[in-house]
Amino acid sequence: MNVGYKEALKDFPFNCFIFSDVDLIPMDDHNFYHCYSQPRHFSVAIDKHHFRLIYPQCFGGVSGLSKEQFIKINGFPNKYWGWGGEDDDVYHRIILHGMKISRPARITGRYRMIKHGRDANNERNPKRFIRLKSVKSTMKTDGINSLKYQLIKKKVYVLFTNITVDVGKPTD
Ligand code: BGC
Repeated sequence: MNVGYKEALKDFPFNCFIFSDVDLIPMDDHNFYHCYSQPRHFSVAIDKHHFRLIYPQCFGGVSGLSKEQFIKINGFPNKYWGWGGEDDDVYHRIILHGMKISRPARITGRYRMIKHGRDANNERNPKRFIRLKSVKSTMKTDGINSLKYQLIKKKVYVLFTNITVDVGKPTD
């Protein structure tokens, strides 16, 4: 997410960023992908989860932040490796900065999740629960201000740009 933000800004001075898991397909075109006065959680009703928000703090799937909101929270954390937790971390960052989560109605925020197996080398990260306890302090130093990566390939297509980067290995 942080790499997407950085790379997109090299191409155009965007002021709104929508982050979408590739397996989520919106079902209702009233679910407008733009930025709101508060950070937006779009994917509130996923078929796999019986079209319900699975927990009130959920911010995963498809989310949107203005550039200002994104900078305020120092972007996404870089220290979650494997599956899970980075979206929960962002939820805490938003709340700790005095903002609220904005959401569409459940009827509008419906999605289908494309069926797929777990990606190779992307196991559930059991460390995420420990990390989530210290967001208040880690959010200041772990984020867009500490992002390190090497650009390997950037291929521009008509509707999207495919970016390949090397993000290194976990250091702790
Ligand atoms: C994970 C999140 C994920 C959510 C819903 C949580 O346990 O930490 O990253 O979005 O489950 O699948």
